[in-house]
Amino acid sequence: MVDSFKHQGLRRKLVTQLKEKGIENKAVLEAIDKIPRHFFMDNAFLDFAYQDDKAFPISCGQTISQPYTVAFQTQLLDPQKNEKVLEIGTGSGYQSCVLAEIGVKLFTMERFRELHDQAKKQFERLGYKTIKSFFGDGFKGHPAFAPYDKILVTCGAPMIPQALVDQLKVGGLMVIPVGSGSEQIMTTVLKKSATETEIIELTKFKFVPMLAEKSR
Ligand code: SAH
Repeated sequence: MVDSFKHQGLRRKLVTQLKEKGIENKAVLEAIDKIPRHFFMDNAFLDFAYQDDKAFPISCGQTISQPYTVAFQTQLLDPQKNEKVLEIGTGSGYQSCVLAEIGVKLFTMERFRELHDQAKKQFERLGYKTIKSFFGDGFKGHPAFAPYDKILVTCGAPMIPQALVDQLKVGGLMVIPVGSGSEQIMTTVLKKSATETEIIELTKFKFVPMLAEKSR
């Protein structure tokens, strides 16, 4: 697959559209401008890779989140260089690369072996060698590398998993879409102390569901 001038032009246009929709974090926009999103999609959908409001199928019945959703969640997370970030729902690996491009130390988890394997190859191919990816159940998080400065959940969670709150640093932030129906409320969870959180509910989004453990 190549990253042609056409693709680069489409990405520039996408960045302009995201700015018009309120995305202003420079690091987020630069990462989206740089990463060839079409590399993460099946051939059949290549031409649609740079539409801001389109989510597309990837393997295992899952989807690559739409660019606006990736931009919105990443801007909310406000990742800083060298912060330790845990992502739940590696999927295509696109969101992971956006975070790695911004310079965080990324740990990402996926419950489908096939998606985990594909994403791992993609990270190597694109040169994101610092991303640590794991096959496992995101409801449990990844305690071995905790605590994390930030946690980003990219699937619709039925509730805020306590294990993830436990693995956040005090002062740390989690961005998580909460809701078990067809829509979720984008939610931020600020860990104010070992026992207190401040939860803020924002706008509605649509994600594939966060599901319990599964070995395949
Ligand atoms: N960040 C991804 C979004 C993929 S969709 C991207 O940029 O493409 C969400 C992903 O979350 C799916 O791949 C799904 O399999 C995964 N997922 C759902 N429940 C999970 C769980 N309990 N643990 C880990 N991953 C999960």
